[in-house]
Amino acid sequence: AAMSANILINSPNLKYTDTHIEAQYSYQTTSVHQEGNKLTVTPRTTEMIFRTERHVPRLGVMLVGWGGNNGTTVTAAVLANKLGLTWRTKNGEKKANYFGSFLQSSTVCLGSGSEGEVNVPFCDLLPMVHPNDIIFDGWDISSMDLGRAMERAQVLDWSLQEQLRPYMCCLKPRPSISIPDFIAANQDSRADNVLTGTMAEQMERVRADIRDFKLSSGVDKVIVLWTANTERFCDITPGVNDTAKNLLATIQNGGEVSPSTLFAVASILEGCAFINGSPQNTFVPGAVELAVERGVFIGGDDFKSGQTKIKSVLVDFLVSAGIKPTSIVSYNHLGNNDGKNLSAPQQFRSKEISKSNVVDDMVQSNSVLYQPGEKPDHCVVIKYVPYVGDSKRAMDEYTSEIMMGGINTIAMHHTCEDSLLASPIILDLVILTELCQRVTIKPQGEEDFQSFHSVLALLSFLCKAPLVPPGSPVINAFFRQRACIENIMRACLGLPPQSHMLLEHKLQ
Ligand code: NAD
Repeated sequence: AAMSANILINSPNLKYTDTHIEAQYSYQTTSVHQEGNKLTVTPRTTEMIFRTERHVPRLGVMLVGWGGNNGTTVTAAVLANKLGLTWRTKNGEKKANYFGSFLQSSTVCLGSGSEGEVNVPFCDLLPMVHPNDIIFDGWDISSMDLGRAMERAQVLDWSLQEQLRPYMCCLKPRPSISIPDFIAANQDSRADNVLTGTMAEQMERVRADIRDFKLSSGVDKVIVLWTANTERFCDITPGVNDTAKNLLATIQNGGEVSPSTLFAVASILEGCAFINGSPQNTFVPGAVELAVERGVFIGGDDFKSGQTKIKSVLVDFLVSAGIKPTSIVSYNHLGNNDGKNLSAPQQFRSKEISKSNVVDDMVQSNSVLYQPGEKPDHCVVIKYVPYVGDSKRAMDEYTSEIMMGGINTIAMHHTCEDSLLASPIILDLVILTELCQRVTIKPQGEEDFQSFHSVLALLSFLCKAPLVPPGSPVINAFFRQRACIENIMRACLGLPPQSHMLLEHKLQ
């Protein structure tokens, strides 16, 4: 295992107290005034204090869709890591790890010393929850215990499953809210573990479940995360779900509210952060307003795990190299239950929308290549092929215009192993959210420390269709998203942003 670093910042701008890390920080931005093609650029500096609570709480995570491929895989992976399990495959012995988690398995450069650059695991920058310490619970419309559900998922090697089964089969999903109209009809046979009663009663039951879990497990904090089936989009209707008040009234009186929105509202009302890992519009305007009113974090949408992650790297590379992508065509086929659900048109539509907007920011940033409103052709196809199971295949063709009328084509074949890519992302999402709950910021001249906005845009890095506060820009580009997290964490330590200038090596 990598050595865990013990970082001590040696700076007059940083104060460690028993309870907090408090950093004086100069936030430098650049504001641009535009008149015709005359741009007046003014650098600005805002002094701020970043304050991070040092005490790491015991974290409980409740998954909606706990018995699914992601739910069982993430639970099993944490258990296997906690127990330090190893297992044999035809390729030799494997050992539990957290590859694919940027917090656990990627590093950041702290700076340089006599030995050259010093890189540390991302998770060593600030005090944060270790995945091994997370306690899981959750709901599923399928009553299968997690031991059998892990077998149904066909994700983990058999000899690992055999070691995990005695632990996993004790875990049983709580009955969930099912409104069949929102997911594909082909899911009906799974639904043998559903709540009854009015919508309001079912939501109250979910709230009671959250309180029950918190009490019985002894965790300090609960975060709820949707990794259940993709739902169809919910109609946004004035009077129904446009404000917090109307949404709460609709839940009382009946009307168009999706199960995922009911879970989000239940979670917000319990003061628990809620993250949406699927593409549907769980966060209708009324749900966002409720989260803001209550000061509870929400984040999403749709885990960025495979094809889209590459898209947010590749298009960033092309456009920032001055190459003009003109057509992006993406085929997927997959054979897990997610694929089965997505074979229905309305659920596919949710995914198609979420996958389609991911190049917008990169395209819009370059007016040399693209005229206003111009975009590459972008087509997304998803097919259900049972045989490939969880090993989703993603095939993409990127066609770009290069110099002097040349055409550049990149074709790619990608075997994803979907749930093994999504599980570490689930861990990063909840651990980052929990960390953000302990960070407050006081800009110069303000009276009080404030939290991040309830719509936690910092999670964009992990999401295909990032939810951001109203009016703020959506960033999809992979390295910008990652730099944002890295530099905010550095700010919490009073360190300047990572500039990659390396001037110390560039002068005579
Ligand atoms: P899955 O079908 O194996 O698991 C979903 C689980 O949710 C099932 O066990 C199902 O019974 C349950 N469920 C359905 N409706 C429910 C409800 N109302 N309440 C509680 N449980 C309910 O799918 P998966 O592969 O685990 O993926 C889960 C979700 O994550 C999907 O929406 C998928 O689109 C999304 N996602 C997955 C990835 C990935 O790489 N695996 C990436 C992005 C998004």
